[in-house]
Order: sequence, then structure tokens, then C-alpha cells
Amino acid sequence: MIPLDEAQERVLSACPVLGAERRPLAAALGCITTESIVAAEDVPPFANSAMDGYALRSDDVTGAPTALRVVDSVMAGDGRAVEVGVGEAVRIMTGAPVPDGADAVCMVEQTRTEEEGRRVVIEVAVGPGTAVRGPGSDIASGTEVVAPGTELTPAHLGMIARLGLETVCVHRRPTVGVLSTGDELREGPGALERGAIRDANRPMLLALLEAAGFPTIDLGIVPDDEATLRRVLTDAAATCDALVTSGGVSVGDLDVVRMVLTDLGGPSMHWMQVAIRPAKPLAFGLLDGRVPVIGLPGNPVSSSISFELFARPALRRMQGHRDPFRPTLRALADHDLPRRPDGKIHFVRTWARTDIEGRLHVVASGGQDSHQLKALADANALVVLEDGDGARAGDEVRVLVLDGHRLGQPDG
Ligand code: AMP
Ligand code: MG
Repeated sequence: MIPLDEAQERVLSACPVLGAERRPLAAALGCITTESIVAAEDVPPFANSAMDGYALRSDDVTGAPTALRVVDSVMAGDGRAVEVGVGEAVRIMTGAPVPDGADAVCMVEQTRTEEEGRRVVIEVAVGPGTAVRGPGSDIASGTEVVAPGTELTPAHLGMIARLGLETVCVHRRPTVGVLSTGDELREGPGALERGAIRDANRPMLLALLEAAGFPTIDLGIVPDDEATLRRVLTDAAATCDALVTSGGVSVGDLDVVRMVLTDLGGPSMHWMQVAIRPAKPLAFGLLDGRVPVIGLPGNPVSSSISFELFARPALRRMQGHRDPFRPTLRALADHDLPRRPDGKIHFVRTWARTDIEGRLHVVASGGQDSHQLKALADANALVVLEDGDGARAGDEVRVLVLDGHRLGQPDG
């Protein structure tokens, strides 16, 4: 057996980081930048009002209340040259350019109008600069707003659009081919003959890839037949950046998957027994010396956890992520999570929720065998149990949150 981190390092270090491409902003969410983006202009480009109110000269309103003559009104988008003289104010809306002569805005809530709006009484003293958003107060021209290696979030995309840019240079995302191997696999509603089961892994892996942001190619179910598997893998290596397979990588397996991968991957193939449970067996190598193939075990829970621990980080590395792993969080075990020492790290399917103080708690989500996909479907996190006797109720444990959107809320 080899330690988990060593196996991860072996996989990640062999995965090529993909080259750069220019993408429209609408197709760049989650991509990793390869360029530095520097603002060529100030944002906002002109001083504008942060409030609905009155633009005025702060020197006029050092004592409150003060009445001013309202000489004009400016809305957002109003580009006219407007001026505020001594003793004057201009009605102004949020985002409208601050008129020449004015150096502050009094919010409308601190004013009242007289003479049908021709005069305004400013009820408080207003200091210079109040409620004025100066040019460059968000981004000053010349600032690097995105460094190379940044994962683009919605806010990044908004900010880049704000600078007038329509495209961004990012790492290519790997297109990933997915196949399930096994003579026993079927799909769809038809009755199952004795010995047959339906393919769970391919739909699951395609969805895991989609959730991680990778384009996929569904390569279907491939029977344990040497010629077919060889043909599917060879064709796929020509069209995909990476391949994820399930089944046929355990020690006792029929030799078909092993034979074909060994042949196509040559000396790059590693057949690993990783010191984890579930998901001990893992195959990894490069097809045509170039296309990573990650061979996951067939048991559905093992397949999914192996994807989480190896495939997802490897593909993220290919996409240019500098830190492709999920962070782990601390949580309290709400009951005993027993285990026996066996030299392996155990991953326990759990439901994680916060209590009203915001602390994370975990409860095992059901049967923990590697074929029991239901407990994984009922889970949103994996507790990482280091080798030993497990955790007791109330112990702090380390968790990998699989799906932050599904983190349970406090009871009640
Ligand atoms: P294998 O890794 O091919 O030895 O398969 C291990 C176990 O997982 C066996 O019980 C298989 O029937 C099952 N299995 C393999 N592939 C799949 C799949 N795609 N969906 C559901 N179960 C599978
Ligand atoms: Mg099999």
C-alpha cells in the first residue's frame, strides 16, 4: 500500500497543465487566468453620487440647518455640464455625475424642500467628500485587478467587464471521456437478467465532472472484452484530454482492463493500492504518453471517493489550479465513529450541518460499505478518520465538505 498523499502526488505530477485560450467572459466562469489584467482606466471614471440627495458646496452648510436654492436636477447617465454656485444645490440621484463646484452630497433623508422644490433645507452639516464616490475609488487606473492563476468568480467577470474587456486568457479546461467497464452492466428500465446490475458510475461520474466544471464525453458501457475496450480507449485518447474509467482495477479482477491499459499506457501505468478505505485500488497512466487515464474502482462509493481524491484534483491541476484540493474543515462528531487500526485513512459518509452557533456537526449517513451508494447520496461530507480507533462522540474531526450548497442548516 502507498500513502494517500504519495498516490495523489504521483497522479498530479504526471498530469500536464493545459495551454491557454481566449474565451468570452460568458464562458469563463471557473476558469484559471493565464494573464495579468491591469486596469487601463479609473473605475468609476468620474466623481458620482453615492446617494439620492442634493449636491452642494460643503462650505455652504457648515452650520445646520441651511437653506439652498435648487438650480437643477441630475440623474444617472446625465452627461450635461452642470454647475453648483455659492448658496446653490442640485438635486442628484445615485450614480449621477457630481456637478462642477459641488464637493459633497447630502442624502435626501436629511433634507426637506420648500417652495415646491425650488429651495432645500439641509438639516445637518455636510463635510467635504460626503457621499461622493471619487474617480478610481473602486479601481485606480494601473492597478492589477486579476493576477495570473486566478480562478474567475462571477465578481471577477463583472469587474473585467467593467473595464471594457470582452474576453480573457485562461487555461483550457480538459474535456474528459467517461466509461464504465463490466460485462454485468446494463442501463435503463428493462428487466435485469440474473447477475446483471445497472450502471451507476457513469451517470455519477459525468455529473461529478459537470459539477467540477469540466466538459465531458460519454463513452458508454464497455464490456470486459479486450478488442472493444482497446478500440474505445484508443479512439477516446484522440479526442479527449483525459479519461476516467470505472471497474476492473482491483487485484482479483479479470485481466481485461489491466491488460489493455498496460498495453496502451506502457511504462507510464501505475497500479496502486492506496492506504485508504474505501477506494484502495487505483490505476493511473498516460495514453499515447499524453492523455491521463484514471482507472477508478467499480464499487460506486469507491468510484466516487476515488474521483474526489484523485480525478477531481488531477483535472483541476490540468486546468491550471494551483491548489486543486478541497480544504478540510473541523466538525464535531455527534456520535461515535469507531474503526480499527489497519494502516488506512477511512472516509466516512456523513451529513454535516451547522448548529445555531455556527459550529459544524457530523452524523454518519448510513451503511458504509463500498456498494452502499445510498449513504453517499444522503451525505454532504466525508469525515477523514486517520489510522487508529476512530472518534468518540464530541470529538473534533476533519471533514471534506463535498457539496457546500447542501450543508445542513441548524435544526428548527
Ligand atoms: P470491479 O471494480 O470491476 O471489480 O467491480 C467491483 C464491484 O462494483 C462489482 O460488484 C461490480 O459489479 C460493481 N460495479 C462495477 N462497475 C459498476 C458500475 N458502473 N455501476 C455499478 N456498479 C458497478
Ligand atoms: Mg468489473
